[in-house]
Amino acid sequence: MFETMSEYQGIGLAAPQVHESLRVFVAGVRRAEVVTPMTDDVEMPFVALINPDILPVGEDVESNWEGCLSIPDIRGRVERPRAVRVRALDRSGRRIELVAHGLPARVIQHENDHLDGVLFFDRMVTFETLTFMDEFKRYWAKDEDE
Ligand SMILES: [Zn+2]
Repeated sequence: MFETMSEYQGIGLAAPQVHESLRVFVAGVRRAEVVTPMTDDVEMPFVALINPDILPVGEDVESNWEGCLSIPDIRGRVERPRAVRVRALDRSGRRIELVAHGLPARVIQHENDHLDGVLFFDRMVTFETLTFMDEFKRYWAKDEDE
C-alpha cells in the first residue's frame, strides 16, 4: 500500500481504495519515527494504522483543501476537527496511541472515512469550492497566494 500511495503521489491510502475490505490505512510523506503530537512541522512520518479509533481533540474546526486518489484531479474545501487522538494497532500488531494536528490530523480523518465508505464530498458543507485541479491551479491557488 505504501508503494501504491507513493506511485500516485498520495499522502494517504485506505485498504478499501485498493479493493481490500479491511480497516487499515497508510499515510505520511517520509520514513521516520512516529512522534506524538504529529503536527504540520514534522512532515508526517509513514504510519500504517489497523482498526483505528479516532476522536476529535478540543473544539477547533478548520477548513482546508482536500483531494483523493479515488477521485482524481478534483479538490474541495472540507471542514474537520483541527486535532484528533488516534488509537490503533501498528503493522506489528502493537497498540499505539497518538495525537495529530493540522495536515496529519486531516489526512488521518480523510483516510479513516474511507473505512466507512465516506468520501470528502460527503463532508463538504457546500460544493462552492468543488473544483477540477486545472481550475484550482488557475483560480484558487492564485487567490491564496495573494
Ligand atoms: Zn481519499
